[in-house]
Amino acid sequence: MTRRLIAALALALSACAAPPPHSAPPPPPTFLAPQEQRAPVTLLISIDGFRPDYLTRGVTPNLNALAAEGISAAMRPSFPSKTFPNHWTLVTGLRPDRSGIVANRMLDAKIPGKVFTMATDDPRWWSEAQPIWIAAEAAGIRTATMFWPGSNVLLAGGRPSDWMQFNEHISNRQRVDVVVDWLRRPASNRPRLLTAYFDLVDTAGHDFGPDSPQVTAAVAEVDSQIGRLRAELAALGQPVNLVVVADHGMAALAPERVVRLESFADPADYTVVEDGPFATLNPVAGHDAALAAALAKAPAHVQCWAKGAIPARLHYGSHPRVPAFLCLADPGWQVMGATSKGPTGGTHGFDNDAPEMRALFIAAGPAIRPVGKLPTFDNVDVEPLLRDLIGLPQGTPRDGDDTPFRAALKR
Ligand code: AMP
Ligand code: ZN
Ligand code: ZN
Repeated sequence: MTRRLIAALALALSACAAPPPHSAPPPPPTFLAPQEQRAPVTLLISIDGFRPDYLTRGVTPNLNALAAEGISAAMRPSFPSKTFPNHWTLVTGLRPDRSGIVANRMLDAKIPGKVFTMATDDPRWWSEAQPIWIAAEAAGIRTATMFWPGSNVLLAGGRPSDWMQFNEHISNRQRVDVVVDWLRRPASNRPRLLTAYFDLVDTAGHDFGPDSPQVTAAVAEVDSQIGRLRAELAALGQPVNLVVVADHGMAALAPERVVRLESFADPADYTVVEDGPFATLNPVAGHDAALAAALAKAPAHVQCWAKGAIPARLHYGSHPRVPAFLCLADPGWQVMGATSKGPTGGTHGFDNDAPEMRALFIAAGPAIRPVGKLPTFDNVDVEPLLRDLIGLPQGTPRDGDDTPFRAALKR
């Protein structure tokens, strides 16, 4: 290489390196904050009264996509197939007969003069079982409940770090927004186990029946909120193991499918604790034998048992809060006192193995393989699944286990 050539090359290189005299300054270096690697959270969503066959109405693209990404099943609720007993079972892993929440309405000789209703937050009714949020909080896993029966109750183990007093007027959109806002928090006070609850499908089912366009509209609305929720979480970069459940299904009613208690039992012999899809009765003192004899002759579509003789498959009758006698109507029938009205469209509370009482179950997320539809399992197995997802050892006592999910869980 000649000296002249070297000089020319050097000049050319230096010309390249130096900024041209009148061009714009180079952009400042950008220091992108590294995207936070968020640990997966677990979100349990209850859609009250959502029957698994509602997924075939063509209005649930988001829930169907979720099922395709993970696992789904027609889950068997616990008896009685009512809201409070089953929500408590889902988070305690105990059947109602052991969890203490044996019905939506209860009496207890140890809590004299009081009646348990769905508005009761006196811990004496709730303290026989520990919901998963207590074990989670004790293990340092922050929890937050955008409604769940019992989550507003101050138990000995405390409450979720964040909880909301139930208010049916808080819109579905607001419920989703609260969950997303909780997850916007910095990692130090961000929950890792959350719940959400939607009541509109159950309400439409009671008012108009499971086959009504109103139920289909409610199903579409809740599906779109779940779509919004997933989009918001994706935008946040928040991985989530989603477990979507229902507490029970819904059976259609008809005015001619009502059996009146007075038609086969003398009201002088009993008091009614609850009536509808089943009736629970206590004998008037000294009238036990008369009542038992009358109930033994219950008419078609109703079967009655003394609490100690309830068929074993219902797992019901050993708890002191279960009244002395249970009369169970066939699905779609009601057994009621003379003045009771009950809903007109649909109800639940029937035999927990009735096909109409099956409950929605879908789970998907980073911890779950897409193995598709699972055989029917009991809802006592959901709490063990939640423990697996949040990394807690299995608890005791419990009535179920995580067997149905073992092939689907990434470990
Ligand atoms: P059910 O009578 O079994 O159909 O109960 C369903 C109703 O329970 C819903 O329509 C809600 O109004 C009510 N509910 C659900 N969650 C709660 C709660 N955490 N506190 C009080 N009421 C509730
Ligand atoms: Zn319910
Ligand atoms: Zn209901």
